[in-house]
Amino acid sequence: MNFQDLQTYIDKRQALNQALTLFSWDQETEAPEKSMALTAKSVGLLSGELFKTITDPKVKEILSDLEKQELTISQKAIVKKWLKDIRDLEKIPAQKYQEHQERLMIAQRVWQKAKLENNYQLFMPYLKEIVATEKEFAQYRKTNEACLYDVVLEDYEPGFHVEQLDEFFNQLKEHIVPLLKEIQASPIKIDKEYNYKHYSLNKQKEFNRWLAGYVGFDFKKGVIKESEHPFTTEFHNHDVRITTHYYKNNLESALFSTIHESGHAIYEMNIDDDITMTPVGSGASMGMHESQSRFYENIIGRSEEFWKPVYPRLQTFFADNLEEVSLEQFVQGINKVEASLIRTEADELTYPLHIMIRYELEKKMFAGEVDFEQLPQLWNQLYQEYLGITPQNDSEGILQDIHWAGGSFGYFPSYALGSAIAAQIYAHMQKTTAVADWVESGDFQVLKKYLQEYIHQYGAIYQTNELLEKLTGEKFNPKYYIEYLTNKFTKLYHLR
Ligand code: ZN
Repeated sequence: MNFQDLQTYIDKRQALNQALTLFSWDQETEAPEKSMALTAKSVGLLSGELFKTITDPKVKEILSDLEKQELTISQKAIVKKWLKDIRDLEKIPAQKYQEHQERLMIAQRVWQKAKLENNYQLFMPYLKEIVATEKEFAQYRKTNEACLYDVVLEDYEPGFHVEQLDEFFNQLKEHIVPLLKEIQASPIKIDKEYNYKHYSLNKQKEFNRWLAGYVGFDFKKGVIKESEHPFTTEFHNHDVRITTHYYKNNLESALFSTIHESGHAIYEMNIDDDITMTPVGSGASMGMHESQSRFYENIIGRSEEFWKPVYPRLQTFFADNLEEVSLEQFVQGINKVEASLIRTEADELTYPLHIMIRYELEKKMFAGEVDFEQLPQLWNQLYQEYLGITPQNDSEGILQDIHWAGGSFGYFPSYALGSAIAAQIYAHMQKTTAVADWVESGDFQVLKKYLQEYIHQYGAIYQTNELLEKLTGEKFNPKYYIEYLTNKFTKLYHLR
């Protein structure tokens, strides 16, 4: 058998995947409210077909034959990924899997109601059951991982386990929590009232469209729509779609979500033609993906170099609100540190602390060390300890994120890892390239080519640590992130 024998199955797998992706994109952006119940039937059918295609006995035969042959690097990666998918899918009893998926759909609706009504008791039995099932599934899939939580972490960030994450979050705890306390005690107060004035939605749309193109979003291969929560969806490297959300009393929100999602999109658009439309034709991992979006959003997008050429344009666009706001004031404003209760609204410095809290709780839940009745109190205690604030109710506390209701455990850490990976890449670029000049001169093509050459083109052929080692000569090292945050914010708040 040769690789060509696998190709028919790759094509079918991709086609089914794309159909499912299109349905989910449509649900989030265009589909009418009542469509879901009936559409779900087609989605269920297609998912079933996808499952059958991936686990087809004929495919298994081809794969195990190919595994013994000399293959190219990308072919080898495809075979490896497919075999892993089969192992993961086959170990969970199909009936149980199906039941769990249905329960998750109900749980998400219950969560929504619970959040709206500020009623954790309503959601708690579901959460308890979801954790129990997720643990049971992890037990089926477990091979040589040290604990069950490691199994789910692998789903989002292959190669990263509790051991590495503990080390990472301990450093954050040791350095960033005290830094935040220093900032909170500092007499310097940054005024960003300008951000909450009235901004025309149409003008925001026009500006953000321009901004996406400016940083390298290719409108011939992508579209921008609106949704409640911004996200990126990809079909292949010639069709990548992003959304953003405009608020009439918050300028910053759409600006940075547009840059963030553009970062995700640029990654996908730059994946090599040879591997797009294959199982390794997407970003390397959740953390790696977040590293690219956060690189554009925070490291580049919140820097003074970035805004030097861009801010005058923004000022002209919104002259009434920004005429009197200097570039310096604006750059301070977009970097202002303020401990808040809601993760998605957090600033660059406090963001990873929100993640650390979720990580600690997930770890405890998977280790069976949590009394679910006490979970909200535990959440609130950790917010007080790390951020110095306490939620007034569970809607703005333990009930704020949808992830757990959807069974996504092990997902949160990749957000913080993404920021840390971005900082490591940036540290290397500062030593070896003129990245600050590229940004200040608005030369985003050079930046794009660089990221394409070292990261984007490979899709999921290599794992995060392999990519980092190839580029920076070193595996993941959280020290660059700690240094980056410490330098940036001690300077901004004149601390030392
Ligand atoms: Zn993202």
